[in-house]
Amino acid sequence: MSLLLYNTLSRKIEEFKPIKKNKVGMYCCGPTVYNYAHIGNLRTYIFEDILKRVLKYDNFKVKHVINITDVGHLTSDADEGEDKMEKGARREGKSAWEIADFFIKAFRQDIADLNIEEPDIWCRATDHIKEQIKLIKKLEKKGFVYKTADGIYFDTSKLSDYGKLSRLNKDELMVGARVEIGGKKNPTDFALWKFSPVLQKRQMEWKSPWGIGFPGWHIECSAMSIKYLGQPFDIHCGGIDHIPVHHTNEIAQSEAAEEKPLANFWLHGEFLLTDKEKMAKSGENFLTLQTLKQKNINPIAYRYFVLQTHYRKQLNFSLEALEAAQSGLRHLYHLSSGIQNKHALLFNSVLSFPRKRESNNTDIDSRFRGNDKEETIEKNFYDAINNDLDTPAALALVWTALKDKTISLRTLLKFDEVLGLKIKENISEKKEETIPAEIQKLADERNSARAEKNWAKSDEYRKKLEDAGYKIEDDPRGSRVVKI
Ligand code: AMP
Ligand code: ZN
Repeated sequence: MSLLLYNTLSRKIEEFKPIKKNKVGMYCCGPTVYNYAHIGNLRTYIFEDILKRVLKYDNFKVKHVINITDVGHLTSDADEGEDKMEKGARREGKSAWEIADFFIKAFRQDIADLNIEEPDIWCRATDHIKEQIKLIKKLEKKGFVYKTADGIYFDTSKLSDYGKLSRLNKDELMVGARVEIGGKKNPTDFALWKFSPVLQKRQMEWKSPWGIGFPGWHIECSAMSIKYLGQPFDIHCGGIDHIPVHHTNEIAQSEAAEEKPLANFWLHGEFLLTDKEKMAKSGENFLTLQTLKQKNINPIAYRYFVLQTHYRKQLNFSLEALEAAQSGLRHLYHLSSGIQNKHALLFNSVLSFPRKRESNNTDIDSRFRGNDKEETIEKNFYDAINNDLDTPAALALVWTALKDKTISLRTLLKFDEVLGLKIKENISEKKEETIPAEIQKLADERNSARAEKNWAKSDEYRKKLEDAGYKIEDDPRGSRVVKI
């Protein structure tokens, strides 16, 4: 089976084919760093991390880019209101640059806590002003822009397929974005460059051919994705709220400038809700990973909680459900430790009691090297993750295999390269008891008797061991002494 992904652009499940053989360019819209990420935002980054890990599992070489919006995202997605960064700076009594640095650090800590792999490239909007101006100039040359009292705007009426990603007509897009028309020609037109307010110096502003100001929110992603991944690139991701405005506008400006598609696959993660409302930074229901940690929640339990639901389904958050997920994860670690112990035990016993191989030892070899059952599990796991990242199905498989003890630790850890649940770090190997020398001697003698098929003698030693408070556990691959 090949990798099947739901492409928002076609509204279909499609077979993923990279542009360059075995290589994937992947761009994910990153955080606006005026505040902590909330756990809804983090759900989206977990889904993107799973996608990247699945691609790597499938042997693709992934180039992963995440941008950091540290300028230009206004309080309304319709280019109205204040820059979120400047507003955040006022709230914190710091400069916009200081809060950007602070919240970038906090975000990187969050993703490390969630075992989300770092991208190959982090790119900040403020580090790419030159590239953004160059792109706007290109659009200007092609006749896609016009000037208003407060900025340079993209004329969406110049594109016949504007809005193709959201599949809404212009009226619907207008309602969705709650657009104030102001000096714009069309409600869906959006800012490429905004002028600094007259007689007011912004903290973040730059010179441009059109006047002092700052870039609009969407242009950064177009300018940086082409710089690092070229155009078209393979996969563009984000949360579903990006479909009608941000991604629609990225497509409009990139495709107008280059006259070719921006990206082949568009993947969007559904919302995390609280009390059926979208979790939003501006809302009351805003929860951070930091808050969860203070409530004794392991961030990996949040990751596990998220993986229990398919990324294209809404997920309702409650602390009770998260706590249940945390117990589930602990149990998963516990069962995984059982596998580890079993393997360590068998391995030790082979070393201490070398003996002739018996014909019925296939069962035991399989635990080390994989068997038919394990191959089936591996195939089913592969199919689940390649079926549009079906993590709930993949987890269900892992649970069944753990309960039935049909999975080896090696395979489990291989699966965890995709799930990222830190199983290896959380399995505890029980310390082997030190067996007194005289007891070990009795056990060795019992084993020799048994090897010689002297059952009476073997029983005698077994009895002596039991009287001393020890018993022998036999296994096709060996046997060992344990305390009763
Ligand atoms: P922002 O920092 O607001 O630009 O958002 C970062 C990412 O989180 C974007 O991909 C958003 O689409 C996504 N996002 C925002 N709110 C939610 C939510 N409640 N659940 C899941 N993803 C979200
Ligand atoms: Zn973006």
